[in-house]
Amino acid sequence: MTTLTEQQIKRLTNIMDARLARELNEIDAITARSRSERSQEAMAGKPADQLDAALSEIAGASDYAMVRQDVQDVRDILAARRRLATGRYGDCIDCGNGIAYERLLAYPTAKRCIDCQRLHEDQAGRGGS
Ligand SMILES: [Zn+2]
Repeated sequence: MTTLTEQQIKRLTNIMDARLARELNEIDAITARSRSERSQEAMAGKPADQLDAALSEIAGASDYAMVRQDVQDVRDILAARRRLATGRYGDCIDCGNGIAYERLLAYPTAKRCIDCQRLHEDQAGRGGS
């Protein structure tokens, strides 16, 4: 069980809210830029590739990678907020122990305590969640 105080949870919520707003803004900005690049292309007489248009709003592999990362972050934050709403936030999903507040400050969307995270990464054979 988590031992987070109401104040600590409030602070973590604020951090996540700020991050969520930033990620959503970035997704918006990249999508808007891609869209205008595409319409400029169309005006220049080069019709946008139909397959491309069907596959994604996003022009360019680097933009696509960036948006995919942002979308992943947004999903993580929404999942953390769901855990907050159900009172399971701050509990390790593997061992059920409380995740240290210091770890949550650095990674508000952390799902595992540091020990289980290390184990998880060893098993996965690579870094990341
Ligand atoms: Zn754990």
